[in-house]
Amino acid sequence: MALIVQKYGGTSVGNTDRIKNVARRVAEYRARGDKLVVVVSAMSGVTDGLIKLAKDITHLPSEREMDMLLATGEQQTIALAAIALHAAGIPAVSLTGAQAGIVTDGVHTKAKIQNISPSQVHELLDEGNVVIVAGFQGRTAEGEITTLGRGGSDLTAIALAAALKADLCQIYTDVDGVYTADPRIAPSARKLDEIAYDELLELAGAGAKVMQLRSVEFAKKFGVIFEVRSSLNDNPGTIVKEETRNMEDVVIRGVSLDKNQAKLTVFGVPDQPGMAAGIFRHLGDAAINVDMIVQSASHSGGSPATDISFTVDKPDLAKARKVLDDIRPTIGFLDVQADEGIGKVSIVGVGMRSHTGVAGRMFEVLGKEKINIDMISTSEIKISVVIQLAHGEQAVRALHQAFLG
Ligand code: ASP
Ligand code: MG
Repeated sequence: MALIVQKYGGTSVGNTDRIKNVARRVAEYRARGDKLVVVVSAMSGVTDGLIKLAKDITHLPSEREMDMLLATGEQQTIALAAIALHAAGIPAVSLTGAQAGIVTDGVHTKAKIQNISPSQVHELLDEGNVVIVAGFQGRTAEGEITTLGRGGSDLTAIALAAALKADLCQIYTDVDGVYTADPRIAPSARKLDEIAYDELLELAGAGAKVMQLRSVEFAKKFGVIFEVRSSLNDNPGTIVKEETRNMEDVVIRGVSLDKNQAKLTVFGVPDQPGMAAGIFRHLGDAAINVDMIVQSASHSGGSPATDISFTVDKPDLAKARKVLDDIRPTIGFLDVQADEGIGKVSIVGVGMRSHTGVAGRMFEVLGKEKINIDMISTSEIKISVVIQLAHGEQAVRALHQAFLG
């Protein structure tokens, strides 16, 4: 008999037929004698719809009230899932995040889990119930309702699996698992049987939308092994776990394309100590996430100067421009240019640690495709390049063919 935490995302509970399907799957596991905790997201589109309602009223709704509002999305699903299980003759009880003992800090709309006291979950399980928990939400020590940031149901599931010392944690979604590349871009992409936490983190950070980043970090920290799999079929998914020795045999685990970046270039920055610090401190103060940075000698002015290019998330572009306009008089650079037509292509794999020449091979592949590289950055297990977005998909296909074909 195993204790299993299953999480069903928005599309997996997207309509009542899908919810009945979830009940059917839960019933199968339960028939084997397993104990089940089922974490659910809001039905697909519901959270976005609620956000839109609030934004129709005002641009800046109170974050406390947003949490109050968004928490209702998951609350609908837990009740419907319990009703579906009852209809199938299975005892089930739904719990809000607060009732499940998920205690967070007080940072509304992106609260962090502080601890979980799952005594009620244990009691209900011991009485023979399937326990259905609302994802994405918790409460503060004072009893305020909080949410965990978009995609936060993943975090609820991983954290509950850790707190309950579950034997198995399954993340059900609408794809069969983690792929070597987006199959819509590279038709020869394959589902991976396993992937290391760090690889999934780098792929997710590089634009591959599989799971919420924070939940993978959490899983890594607490050693929660989990499986990403489809709720639409019975295929085995991808196991995500700590890196093992044989994982390094493969040079590259996956290729990804991030279309959500924009490039800013600041021209004619005085070549003096503290200038870069001035620019990036102000961007940091405005909570703008800067990814790649390249500095190059410039010939734009009379006195020694440099050009600094960097990338930000596309939705932050306007805010970043505003920050730069504001500090231009004090820093004294010449001009700013923005380019939204860029894409970041990354190759990821722990095998890079033990294989040499990977970067050279990547650049060669792109060169053969006549794709110009604009910026480069590397980590121990990732190489990313910025190129023109128009060539993004071609680059992914060529790199997938070269490293994984
Ligand atoms: N419903 C929330 C969202 O859409 C949480 C989740 O789906 O994981 O972000
Ligand atoms: Mg979701």
